[in-house]
Amino acid sequence: MEFEEFSRPEWRLMSQVSRPSRYCGSEWRPHEKVSWDEAKLRICLAFPDVYETGMSYYGFQIIESFIHEQSKFYLADRVYCVWPDMEELMRRENMPLISVEHRKPVKDFDVLAFTLPHETSYTNILTMLDLAGLRLRSSERNKNSPLVIAGGYGAYTPEVMSEFIDVFCIGEAEALLPELLPVLENMLGHSKISGFYGKSHEKLSQEISALSNERDKSQLNVNNHRELSLPGFDVKGHEGSSSQKSGSNVNNREELLREIAKLPGFYVPLCHHEGEVITRQITQKFHTLHSMIIPSINIVHDRAAVELFRGCGRGCRFCQAGMVNRPVRERSVEEASQSIMDIINSTGWEEAGLMSLASCDYSGIETLIDELADTLNDRHVKLSLPSLRMDGFSVGLAEKLEGLRSKHGGITFAPEAGTQRLRDVINKGINEEMIIKCVKEIFSRGWEHVKLYFMMGLPTETEQDLDAIANLSYQVLKLGRAIGRKRASVSVSVSGFVPKAHTPFQWERQNSITELQDKGRRIKSLVHDRALSIAYHEPEQTFLEGVLSRGDKRTCNVILRAWEMGARFDSWTEYFNLQRWLDAFEQCGLEPEEFTRERDETEKLSWDFINVGVDKNFLLRERHNAYNQKLTVDCRTGCAGCGLKCKK
Ligand code: SF4
Repeated sequence: MEFEEFSRPEWRLMSQVSRPSRYCGSEWRPHEKVSWDEAKLRICLAFPDVYETGMSYYGFQIIESFIHEQSKFYLADRVYCVWPDMEELMRRENMPLISVEHRKPVKDFDVLAFTLPHETSYTNILTMLDLAGLRLRSSERNKNSPLVIAGGYGAYTPEVMSEFIDVFCIGEAEALLPELLPVLENMLGHSKISGFYGKSHEKLSQEISALSNERDKSQLNVNNHRELSLPGFDVKGHEGSSSQKSGSNVNNREELLREIAKLPGFYVPLCHHEGEVITRQITQKFHTLHSMIIPSINIVHDRAAVELFRGCGRGCRFCQAGMVNRPVRERSVEEASQSIMDIINSTGWEEAGLMSLASCDYSGIETLIDELADTLNDRHVKLSLPSLRMDGFSVGLAEKLEGLRSKHGGITFAPEAGTQRLRDVINKGINEEMIIKCVKEIFSRGWEHVKLYFMMGLPTETEQDLDAIANLSYQVLKLGRAIGRKRASVSVSVSGFVPKAHTPFQWERQNSITELQDKGRRIKSLVHDRALSIAYHEPEQTFLEGVLSRGDKRTCNVILRAWEMGARFDSWTEYFNLQRWLDAFEQCGLEPEEFTRERDETEKLSWDFINVGVDKNFLLRERHNAYNQKLTVDCRTGCAGCGLKCKK
């Protein structure tokens, strides 16, 4: 018996690195492998973290499946960042970064499509570009380089990485890709016309027109996915959709970038004009998975997943995801249920996650769980909710999901702030009474362990608010004991608040490292019970996250300098080195505090030209509401007037 893996050149490196299994690529895939030679467009999806983390990212599987659905001639492969030990070996052996499925050098693809999940992954993007053999700066890459595109949360503050990315995709893949892919196919597509660049114009036109005729008919339907703009969405700065404008007569990189820049929702730094606004593109019909790729190793979230809805109407003022994913769009119960069953049937997974920003808010949640509970229980498949609301309803749901399983794992809630005053400032929408009632429900239904998440450094926070984190946690513990749970325990996690772009708190000052350290120590000093543990997230990493999340073009040089000095995997505490970053800032002549300071409300912000649909005046109004502790309605119960005008 012969294993294909053993003959690969990278195999001999495996015995010298930690967790070699993350590079094996021995996965089960639901789709037929698209032939490299027959593919008309080759896209490599890139995740800037290790395989186990990237494979747990649901959005990646959605995009891959969606691309394959557009045409059987579109090839979508993946690549993840390699751990520093592997990086060192690859450099020593002069081995390029290769894709997971086709084991092809990344530089041989037409498109390298990054997801930007969080700011502390940015240096890994540079590692991946470099290992792929590509120039780091977009302006230095030539026609032989794949087009480097990026989407995800980081794309909403694109200037921070604008020197390195050719095209930022602003919005949802289902809305953006049906516009982009045909353009790329026309301009980069090869299959039988390998080596696009350098051909005579005439020859090229003939070949492209022949290829267009034989293009898979499934592409004709792709625009069903597209919602060009919601009522009230003003697509400024673009002169309409330019599918027709995307020509087949383009034969250099500059023209390709210019063509893409004409499409709504794409920010091309090299072609951008002052004053041009890029508007987020969204879909009403989001892609449904019927199967998923199964890794051969344990990954962070080893489970099937289904997205119940997009968006969130709660309006928590600190939450970027809640603002940039509006409005709420739900999948039908039938579709969600079918998707879960199809994935479970085809993969054999023993857990299915009901994914969304606040899954308990899904209007069909009870029906869905009732519909699936018996079948999944019989098959020993567990359903899980990633987040719970602090109310009896959620506790009831959690119990239903646990079924007869043990409750040892505990139950997790996020009150976010210790006092009612501060919870009102952030528009959390829960009060003391709800918390107490919820905690009583938890302990009386048999749980013994509760996990609570809080933030420190929130706007208007006082010492009283910090002390209240410890007091509330004590109160929860006491309630558990009073209900008869002798082994009741509470673990509390406190993280530093990072003001994010496109939220009502985008103008706020972020606490310094010292302030957060002092606050963390203060809360800890108030806890003297072994059943109550308090941990606070590394303030140094929070600081870097804050610096990069509200950065501008100047931060590109800092990221590059930090990377040159060895910055890798900055979200991993074992690799994060604050001093390296401080040195990078100093060498670039910048103060990091420039990016964590409070902004004047009239100041131009580096992300202002990205229109996520939520009006800047709404964000300002919400900021002032926060100072007045004025609550804003959940927009599923009444429109808060955010500017999207999704309700007539
Ligand atoms: S327009 Fe109203 S309902 Fe729609 S997302 Fe904004 S606040 Fe919510």
